[in-house]
Amino acid sequence: VAKYENGSWSNFQIGPVKNISLSPLAMCLHYGQTVFEGLKAFKTVDGKVNIFRLESHFKRMNRSLERMAMPPLPASCFIDGIRELVNKESHWVIDDPEYALYIRPFAIATENKLGVDASHEYLFMVVLSPLKAYYNRPLRVLVETTYIRSARGGAGAAKNGGNYGASLLPQQKAKQAGFDQIIWLDASEKKYIEESGTMNIMFILNGKTLLTPALSDSILDGITRDSILKLAPELGLEVEERTIQITEILDRVGAGEKVEAFGVGTAAVISPIKEISYKDELFETYVEEDAVMYRIKNKLSEIRRGISPDHFGWSDLV
Ligand code: PMP
Repeated sequence: VAKYENGSWSNFQIGPVKNISLSPLAMCLHYGQTVFEGLKAFKTVDGKVNIFRLESHFKRMNRSLERMAMPPLPASCFIDGIRELVNKESHWVIDDPEYALYIRPFAIATENKLGVDASHEYLFMVVLSPLKAYYNRPLRVLVETTYIRSARGGAGAAKNGGNYGASLLPQQKAKQAGFDQIIWLDASEKKYIEESGTMNIMFILNGKTLLTPALSDSILDGITRDSILKLAPELGLEVEERTIQITEILDRVGAGEKVEAFGVGTAAVISPIKEISYKDELFETYVEEDAVMYRIKNKLSEIRRGISPDHFGWSDLV
């Protein structure tokens, strides 16, 4: 826990999880001024603990804070604090490749005031929990054609609680209709693929081209996405980052092309998609054992676990 008061962060403390008390006037309860991150620590084969891409998560946290009119965190708080916490709790990093220690840093507005304004007081906290990958089977996903997640100029590129609140109803409806996840389309034309629930989305065309939507201010710039794009050339893949019409993907599937689709994210890792539903039509994507996405998943896992060398400086060993 750290506190922001009188223009600076202080009071960094580590201890057991306990309840916090907030006034009913605390601004985070009213105006959505909340930001979070999600990262993981892995056990390496030589028994160390690897906090994966800590620096990148720190930078994204501060970009999100800026978008939500919240003060940036110093590295001494986010980076050193998380290292110290994970080091102290490293027995929770289980020696099983299926598990990782999930790290959830977050910041909330705590000034007591009614009135829509940026708070002058904040709390930063970090909680930990061992976690398995979200999904253990290929997903059925629904292309959402009524609701949108974020529009250009909105806060979609920030990990702000409000983005997730707005996605709950469409997600609930999709689940009731038998789907695991949603694919979001762009807000203005509802034609272009944005991302999925808590994942960026990627495609492999004919086993050789990795295709993913280009970043914009309505898409979260996923760190898993970035890692995969950097690894792709090593796996012999061509990378295309561009706008993608949903119908392009579905036309390719319809024409019998081999199209792999998968979601990528810290919690979801790499989640194969087996079916995409668009306007009541169902399209089956390629999930057989020789699919390229499983090779990507293995490569990423090997780097995190210290089996493959990390040329990128992504590993933060504690
Ligand atoms: N998009 C959204 C909306 C997310 O919540 C997440 C999870 N943080 C992602 C994409 C994937 O991002 P990352 O790879 O950094 O976890």
